[in-house]
Amino acid sequence: MTIFKSKISTNFDLPRRIYRLNELAYNLWWVWNPIAQRLFNRIDNNLWERVNHNPIRWLREIPRTALNAASQDPLYLELYDQVFTEFDHYLTEKDMWYATAYPKKQHEIAYFSMEFGLHETLPIYSGGLGVLSGDHLKETSDLGLPLVGIGLLYTEGYFSQHISEDGWQEAINNPLDFLNLPLNRVLKEDGTELTIQVEFPDGPVQARIWEIRVGRTPLYLLDTNIDANNSFVRQLTTRLYWSDVNLRIMQEVLLGVGGVRALRALGFNPLVWHMNEGHAAFMIIERAREHVKEGMSFENALNKTQKNNVFTTHTPVPAGNDEFPLWLIDKYLASLWAELGITRDQFVDLARHQQSWGETFSMPVLALRNSNGRNAVSELHGTVAREMWKYLWPERKVEDVPITYVTNGVHTATWMARRIRGLYDNYFGPDWLEHIDDLEMWEKMDNIHNNELWAIRNHLKRKLVLYIQERARKRWISGSLHPVQVIASGVMLDPYVLTIGFARRFATYKRANLILEDIDRLINMINVPNRPIQIIFSGKAHPADEPGKMLIQEVYRAVKKAENGGRIVFLEDYDMNLARYLVQGVDVWMNTPRRPNEASGTSGMKAALNGALNFSVLDGWWREAYNGENGWSIGPDADVNSQVQDQTDIDSLYRTLEEEIIPLYYGERDANNMPVKWLEKVKNSMRTITPQFNMRRMLKEYIDRLYIPAMK
Ligand SMILES: *Cc1c(COP(=O)(O)O)cnc(C)c1O
Repeated sequence: MTIFKSKISTNFDLPRRIYRLNELAYNLWWVWNPIAQRLFNRIDNNLWERVNHNPIRWLREIPRTALNAASQDPLYLELYDQVFTEFDHYLTEKDMWYATAYPKKQHEIAYFSMEFGLHETLPIYSGGLGVLSGDHLKETSDLGLPLVGIGLLYTEGYFSQHISEDGWQEAINNPLDFLNLPLNRVLKEDGTELTIQVEFPDGPVQARIWEIRVGRTPLYLLDTNIDANNSFVRQLTTRLYWSDVNLRIMQEVLLGVGGVRALRALGFNPLVWHMNEGHAAFMIIERAREHVKEGMSFENALNKTQKNNVFTTHTPVPAGNDEFPLWLIDKYLASLWAELGITRDQFVDLARHQQSWGETFSMPVLALRNSNGRNAVSELHGTVAREMWKYLWPERKVEDVPITYVTNGVHTATWMARRIRGLYDNYFGPDWLEHIDDLEMWEKMDNIHNNELWAIRNHLKRKLVLYIQERARKRWISGSLHPVQVIASGVMLDPYVLTIGFARRFATYKRANLILEDIDRLINMINVPNRPIQIIFSGKAHPADEPGKMLIQEVYRAVKKAENGGRIVFLEDYDMNLARYLVQGVDVWMNTPRRPNEASGTSGMKAALNGALNFSVLDGWWREAYNGENGWSIGPDADVNSQVQDQTDIDSLYRTLEEEIIPLYYGERDANNMPVKWLEKVKNSMRTITPQFNMRRMLKEYIDRLYIPAMK
């Protein structure tokens, strides 16, 4: 078992009988265990909501009298004891899945990622990549894998989004309050901060190290915002994905090189080194440099380290594949050539990428060339990635390009509504989550009574609508909204209407506006008496992505039209909290990427495991999951040129809505007023998708097919 390297930052003065609430607040285990959340929200739920589900702030603000009362309430204490029995068992259990499956492979694995999405109170993620990393760590903990995460701690986090009256995205950057986050500084024995150092042309940069406990798994985050650094380099860890190329390359050097040094300083000795996307690929150079320092040639050092490296590519879209102009490489890495005993040309050759406009140093090329484990994130993305990178293996046929795929998954316990979990507890038995990838268990889905499932679905939709209305009310009170924006924020939503959700990053290839292409046809569908529909949009564009922001504006224009009756809405500031409400509450989850750019996608999996039906382009994961009975497709299972594709997808989208989705939802009801055909599809979707597109299946595949082979 991995041992944490820090001490808990703050010890709150709590009644003796319940003093371990402090420990619980500093381990994110509570995030995916609703029973643990009840220890906080049972005492004061208003406060719990007001502090945005942050147990540390909750402990800071809860009146002592409330804690005293709880410490004498037998029912509360019973719950408390139960939670800590489970918590202690979880942290100390020896025969977890990994220990049983691979008893002789207890080597450490290092997992590098630029972003981690663990919980809404820790906004150090921008979208799917980060949420996947966060889910990866949670499942690592659940399976008992000896893996440590490494990343950067952003002092401002990712921005908060406000939409102006004319639909323009405004980015708000506020400093995070580290004191109120589950962060512990790693200290040396003498009580001072443990720091690491990375050399840059203008001098060395120091970083301190923070620890986050994710169940049994530690995550270490580097932070350059310390006194020892000048004000320029302090900014390195201010924000996620700087657009400024100098800050951007320095961030990636910090993650890759600094990450290795931090793991060494912490006393880890990983055998497998996993780069989650190319941002961390400078790690390769640093690991080779360690051997060169001991006298090995650089070439031999690369060969020696390559077999332990694993690289995951997450997107075919150019903006997601970092590459740097060569002048930047000269500026920041020139001092390395001599140290490694190679020339500048030899260094650039490691990652040379010929673009139409010149040569670059490509992070994915560096990673692909120097890792033996390489994977894409869905079957189709595998095909696309082999085509995209085949020039690196000119002697091979495209199908033999050595990039495999592991389709993404989601961490079930994080994303599944408590009531659905309860339903499965009753029908499948309390340890069903341990057997989630056991297909036989899912045969029992048919036993579930329609009225129970329908009641839960309706409850979750009501909860979503009430939450949205309350959010709108608060913003209206705060004076930050124009009246039309109150309507745009969802006050007119109806909890009994067929509800479609679309929420994700606003990047142009995701085509958020596809459903708005024929707005009159859409408005006709929206306002049919007795069978209306409503559409909820949400999502942020990267602050430097002007086309992405224009897309938000276009959606916002449609949202503000009076003719839609307040049934098309845009929710500001998409984050993991809003994502949870949406994927749990909507009836239909729509995704309209321009194929084949959506490497996998994961939000549709979250929706499916809560009983929403997917309605999506056959791209990424959905192309593998869709079987004709468990949701709907948009457009054909084929690649065509983009203009033709837009038009066929638009036609398909409207036709399917008008002829299939709306009639199925409002159509035939049985004697108990159940939409039996709809619920049959819901059950098909839950039965086929939940066992397959989850993080447990995904991580086991990474272990069997990438981590174990890399343990040489
Ligand atoms: C799951 C999730 C994503 C990823 O959604 P995609 O459908 O893969 O684009 C992005 N942001 C948040 C907050 C999420 O929870």
